[in-house]
Parts: sequence; C-alpha cells; structure tokens
Amino acid sequence: MTTLLLNHADVLVTMDAERHEIRDGGVFIRDGVIEAVGPSDSLPAYADEVVSLAGCVAMPGLVNTHHHMYQSLTRAIPGAQDAELFAWLRRLYPIWAGITPEMIRVSTQTAMAELILSGCTTSSDHLYLYPNGARLDDSIEAAAEIGMRFHAARGSMSVGESAGGLPPDRLVEDEAAILKDTQRLIETWHNPARHAMQRIVVAPCSPFSVSRDLMREAANLARSFGVSLHTHLAENDNDIAYSREKFAMTPAQYAESLGWVGPDVWHAHCVKLDAEGIALFARTGTGVAHCPCSNMRLASGIAPIPAMRAAGVPVGIAVDGSASNDSGHLLAETRQAMLLARVGFGPAAMSARQALEIATLGGAKVLGRDDIGALAPGMSADIVAFGLDSLDLTGAAVHDPVAALLFCTPPSVRHSIINGRRIVSDGTLVPIDLPVLIERHNRLAVELLNAR
Ligand SMILES: [Zn+2]
Repeated sequence: MTTLLLNHADVLVTMDAERHEIRDGGVFIRDGVIEAVGPSDSLPAYADEVVSLAGCVAMPGLVNTHHHMYQSLTRAIPGAQDAELFAWLRRLYPIWAGITPEMIRVSTQTAMAELILSGCTTSSDHLYLYPNGARLDDSIEAAAEIGMRFHAARGSMSVGESAGGLPPDRLVEDEAAILKDTQRLIETWHNPARHAMQRIVVAPCSPFSVSRDLMREAANLARSFGVSLHTHLAENDNDIAYSREKFAMTPAQYAESLGWVGPDVWHAHCVKLDAEGIALFARTGTGVAHCPCSNMRLASGIAPIPAMRAAGVPVGIAVDGSASNDSGHLLAETRQAMLLARVGFGPAAMSARQALEIATLGGAKVLGRDDIGALAPGMSADIVAFGLDSLDLTGAAVHDPVAALLFCTPPSVRHSIINGRRIVSDGTLVPIDLPVLIERHNRLAVELLNAR
C-alpha cells in the first residue's frame, strides 16, 4: 500500500456534485485511488510521499475525447494548410500511407507528452490506418510507457476510391479482417474494471470511408463485449451532402439507422448536427467530442454546443488530430471552446467554469466513465496543478485563479498525477526523456515526408 498527500493548493477545483472549490485544499491518495478531499488541515498529516501544491490551482485531470496522434508527424504540411476537410484528407492520405510501427509509437508518445503537459490525464486516440505492419498495440504500449490513461479506438477504413469512398485503395482494409483484429484487441487489452488504464473502443473512421455493413457489424461486436463505439459525424457541409447523396439521410438519421446511438456511442465534431439530431442524441444519451480548433482550422463551422448541452447531450472537449489543429494543448482547446461558443452564440454562451466542466466531467461521461473527471473519495487519482505565478496569469490569478486559467494564455502543468503516479513533477515529464523524444519525432517526420 502506498499513500500520496497533495496539500495546500491555493484553490482545489473538485467538480464534485456541488462544484466545491476549496481554498488551501488537498487530496489524500491510497494506491491510485482518492481517499479524502478537503481543506489541507482536515487531511491525514503523513503519507509515503507529500507534495505541496502551494501557489497552484489543482483540479481533476482533463479528458481528451478525440485525437489522431500519428498526425503529429504531419503538422502544418504545405498544401494542406488552407484546405477544407475532403481536400485536406486527399493531400494527406498518400503521406500517411508511409507510416510505420515505429512512427506510431513515437508520434503517440509525442502527442501524449503534449497533452499531459497541458493538463490532460485521460485521452482517446482514433487510429484508422494501419500501413506497413502498424497495429493499435503500438499505440497502447506507447501509452503504458508514458503512463497515460488511454481509450484506444480501433479505427478502420474499408471503402476506397474505386468503390466511391474518399481514401486511396491502398489504405483500406478488408472488413472481415477489421472485425477480427478489433475482437483480438478487445480480448487482449480491454479492461472494463473501475480505474482501468486501458480500454478499447470500436471505431470505423467515418460514413464516407466504411460501409453500412461494417458500421452495423462494428456496433454488434462492441455491444457483445460491452465496449464503446466512436466515429466522425456531421463534420461539415460536404459531409452532410455526401450523406444525403449516398444514403438519402442526414448523418444523425444514418447513425440511428445503424444502431449508432446510445450512451455507449460518441461522435466527433457534429458541427452540422440539426435540431432533430440534437433531440435524438439527447434522448439516447449519445455523446459528442467537440473539436473547436479543428473546426476553425478547416472552416467546418461552429458546433451548436450550448444547444446540445441545454438539451442534455453529453459533450466533451477534444484537440482532434494534430494535422488539423495543429496543437495538442487541451487547456488551450478548452479556452477555444469557450471563445468559439461566444462567437456563435453570444457572450454568455459558455463561462470559464462551464468550459472546465465540459473538459473534465463532460469528457468522462462521453467516454463512459464515472471514476474520473472529479475529485472525490473513490475516484481515480488523476489530478493536475497549474502554477499561478507566471507572467501569463499576472493580474488575473489574484482576482479569480480558476477563470484566469481559461481567460489568459493557457499555462503548462506544474504537477500531474495519473492513477496515483507522479507523471509531471515541477514541470518535468518524469517517465520520458522529452528532448530525445522530440529529436526522434522530428527525424521520423522528415523521413515520412521524404518516403513518398
Ligand atoms: Zn478526427
């Protein structure tokens, strides 16, 4: 048994049922699980390890609900900088065809390092292409090495150009092989237990890259194992046009017709989800991964997040893939969600605390978890702390330290604890040598582009 005491946070944001914010707060952790939360003087005085969070705001680790980590190798690629979704994909698919297992491992750790330093402790990743022997196992092992809580989504593409899909034929897989490998991954890695560090998600890439049959079969497979379902939906106007032309349905109607709604399903983007779709998602508990930077970057539009939340749709924040953001800073993404909601729906559309709630409790709900997203006894010990003494926060943290994190330049974490383990200590990522990782990642990024 090991215990860890975090104490003296200037403010501890609990995200508990009453949204308590505790002055001079702390958390007592035993074996990776929170045992007590409260004012520092109410907590046990001794632990195997004690970390002072004086000068920090502490909060539950943020949850990233959608990503394509391999894309860290192809950020800001010339020719894909100023395109909408479909043209952007057509430019990048041929480059991605050169991805190797080593590239998956290194880019996954790079993306996770960036997420972790920005306050994220749990992430999903949607990997949907497997050229040159790449496997989802490469991502999962990379995540375990860096110590991040991970929902690995087994993506797939099965309808290539010759069959009317968007991806080139050489990047698509056989549907029976996709389902077989997905089942293998669930049986090998999926942990349904509370406080699990690894879960598998069944995740055909999008309606424009897989068949109806695969969507249906994927849902059946996921439900037979009790795992979640994830895909892209209603991302932009072209996506809607494709759905109307190919299926004579809106994306929401298409999803419903395939069994792709329910509390075990979440869809990325949903920028163009209509009123009927919002009502459907609310009624069925279907979740949404909101990706504001990607939606701005690709000019997809402004997702109706306030309307979704008002209707009761579970919403989480996501950075989306690194080739359409091209930042993986989750606190910054949360800030953009707050700002973009205001552009679309007025200055009261999303407060700083509502944005944080979406990034913590919202993300947890979307991923189907009740053990992360809040600091309370019995929850997983995923806690991040941001220092308040930086130039970026000066003149703001003294007034409202919690809101300052959202309104000012988003800082990196000073401390990050994931599953009770210290992953960032005084600003340093502990499990990985970051300069070595960056050098290796840059070398592979150049190799990938030159391989074509
Ligand atoms: Zn995506």
